[in-house]
Amino acid sequence: MTPRAWTVELRSHTSGLVLVCQQCPHADGHIDAASARSAALAHLAHHARGDLVPLHLRVCQCHERGCRWHPRHRGCDGPIRLLLACERGGRLWRLADACGACAAATARAAVVPETALAGTPGRPTAAPQRKRQPRGPGAQTRVREILSYLATALPPATSAAARLLALQCTLRMDATMHVRLPKGMLRSLRLNAPDVWDELERAQWLRVMPTSEAGGAVAELLDATLLGQAPARDDRRHAADWALRASCPSRAGAVSPLPRLASIYLAAHANPETGTGWSPLEQMARTSGDEPSELPCVLDQLVKEGLLASWRVCPESDDLHWTLRDKPRPAEQD
Ligand SMILES: [Zn+2]
Ligand SMILES: [Zn+2]
Ligand SMILES: [Zn+2]
Repeated sequence: MTPRAWTVELRSHTSGLVLVCQQCPHADGHIDAASARSAALAHLAHHARGDLVPLHLRVCQCHERGCRWHPRHRGCDGPIRLLLACERGGRLWRLADACGACAAATARAAVVPETALAGTPGRPTAAPQRKRQPRGPGAQTRVREILSYLATALPPATSAAARLLALQCTLRMDATMHVRLPKGMLRSLRLNAPDVWDELERAQWLRVMPTSEAGGAVAELLDATLLGQAPARDDRRHAADWALRASCPSRAGAVSPLPRLASIYLAAHANPETGTGWSPLEQMARTSGDEPSELPCVLDQLVKEGLLASWRVCPESDDLHWTLRDKPRPAEQD
């Protein structure tokens, strides 16, 4: 069986960058810096989609290679998912099947959201699932996974506003990778400034389409390749609404994009029973496109806005611990 692990490298060349794939030596050629990231992701996704293997035959490719991609841990565990990893400051990209334990131990990596895996073309959808399966991911899990995915897939300098928009686009896109955001929704997202769209367009993450609707927006997602074919659109839209509520609590008023993104992150990573959560500070910073040193100021603001009850950073581990003012509402009660 073909090993489900693919690696592409972006190498400097006199005339710019070249995309080099370890699996197809004759492929590709020159690309410009702006499109390098999206070209790398598209190429990897092309391999993954061309090599569909039933879940029960997939194995941890990290383990197969001696777990060289992460610090030592206690062994493989958890379900096999596609893991997208970035090394050498964005020069090397790898997409591979990995178990939950290896995925968690790998730096600069994100599990590709389940919605993409479920979109395996040709899988009979009418056949009942024989195996007892846990329910699909709830809104909170979906949002958490997509935030993690975007933290790796978007350029590090992407603004908080563009990240909020990318999250909504990912959750609201249709089966052809198009997303339509009406004027009212853009207003409630406070994302009607054209420069936010420009930013994602420059990163080649999406392409804005002409629309006849005044004030609304239509776009085609180009990162697509990784997220395409997602079938459970209603579930995703439900998650998009969940994220919207987590970012715009009535008490938080007209806060700016970074605190809104931060509040989605905190809600998505909190225990729904207790409203408490923890996460490495660095991971939250990467998801927000900010420096870890900037976050305390944002967290204080969220306390002032009445969203967060308390927070502290553990000095030994640099882990952030927090308690939300309100528990994140589980999806079932929506
Ligand atoms: Zn290739
Ligand atoms: Zn491993
Ligand atoms: Zn493993």
